[in-house]
Amino acid sequence: MNYENSIDFAQKMDEQDELKSYRDKFYIPVINGKQTIYFTGNSLGLQPKSTQKYINQELEDWAQWGVEGHFHAKNPWFAYHEMFTEPISKIVGALPKEVVVMNNLTVNLNLLMVSFYRPTKERYKIVCEAKAFPSDQYALEMQVKSAGFNPEDALIEVAPREGERTTRHEDIIDAIEKAGSSLACVMIGGVNYFTGQVFDMKAITEAAHKVGANCGFDLAHGAGNIELKLHEWNVDFACWCSYKYLNSGPGGVSGVFVHERHCNNTELPRFAGWWGHEKETRFLMEKGFKPMKSAEAWQMSNAPVLTMAAHKASIDIFDEVGMDKLLKKQRLLSGYLEFVVDEISETYLNKSEGKWLEIITPRDWSERGCQVSVIAHGFGRALFDKLLNEGVISDWREPNAIRMAPVPLYNSFEDIYRFGEILIKAISQ
Ligand SMILES: *Cc1c(COP(=O)(O)O)cnc(C)c1O
Repeated sequence: MNYENSIDFAQKMDEQDELKSYRDKFYIPVINGKQTIYFTGNSLGLQPKSTQKYINQELEDWAQWGVEGHFHAKNPWFAYHEMFTEPISKIVGALPKEVVVMNNLTVNLNLLMVSFYRPTKERYKIVCEAKAFPSDQYALEMQVKSAGFNPEDALIEVAPREGERTTRHEDIIDAIEKAGSSLACVMIGGVNYFTGQVFDMKAITEAAHKVGANCGFDLAHGAGNIELKLHEWNVDFACWCSYKYLNSGPGGVSGVFVHERHCNNTELPRFAGWWGHEKETRFLMEKGFKPMKSAEAWQMSNAPVLTMAAHKASIDIFDEVGMDKLLKKQRLLSGYLEFVVDEISETYLNKSEGKWLEIITPRDWSERGCQVSVIAHGFGRALFDKLLNEGVISDWREPNAIRMAPVPLYNSFEDIYRFGEILIKAISQ
């Protein structure tokens, strides 16, 4: 693609965009009377205009039916989660039986670790990322401790090499091979939340299996953002949240993947509740837990229907569009943002004076999704505040990193061009 940093080019791209009508299906936040340039779909996706209708449906059914809504609501609540099975399996590349929507992300990560981190005296280590998202760090630390091990010894953190921004795959594979028979589990974010780097989940899973360990991924930044083939890659388990790229609202429900081979293993240890029990006999309320032979077996509680209704509004949009079109546009958008940032850095800043914009996200499409992370050398928080004042909503990380994620459903090429204009002003002041 031959990009140009011009309004004509951006508008031409928008005209040719087969997904352009979807922007209008979302509420774009307005600040100071101006529509914002919203680049934080990786943090909290925007609200589909249809969400209210979906939630109202459940409120109305609750009003009309009371408890009978479990069976008589338009979408009967006792089986509400089942409506996600097909569309979610397409988003993450799974068999329908391998996915379920339940709880929240960190809760699910802990539940999955109960099943897939089964340490023994000899095999108790976990390979993970250094500086993983804090919630994941805490979860792993306490999983290790509650199994009676020392995190200092049990957690093998793989970090970027000195002077490098992203983690090398060979270093992850190397850490797995070195840990060998002491390795119980690999647990990595499929997409690094800071750099936007996408890991080669297939290769990592293969390496983990070769030494006899389980392998799972936190896909908070992956689901709805990158191409996933969890079943084919043989991943053991994964979980993600629905409020980032999946636009399902603050604190929205989380999704879980458990590979078929584990779904069929009813002996696998897990925490349990009535909603994971065999469906046919669930309401007999008999003694003895009999897990379903699907990811649903990890459910404990009945479905939180109101937050799931918001999830459904968004997932119906994903299902209508399909991941292929989203991926196609996403690559063009992130490529355009990359181009604009590079051009502005080269034209308006001087590296030898210590001022430049360094893109730390991998430049290869196969190693990134929507997100482009930039280190603004020679700038501080004032730069971010200027952008925000002009209506650019991005994410700032001290001391000087800006994370931006134009997303294919509601961001436009013009958004990126306009951002560039604002950026030029902000760095020139
Ligand atoms: C966003 C995010 C979380 C958030 O966890 P919640 O349980 O939804 O609060 C956890 N892990 C990663 C990697 C994330 O990006």
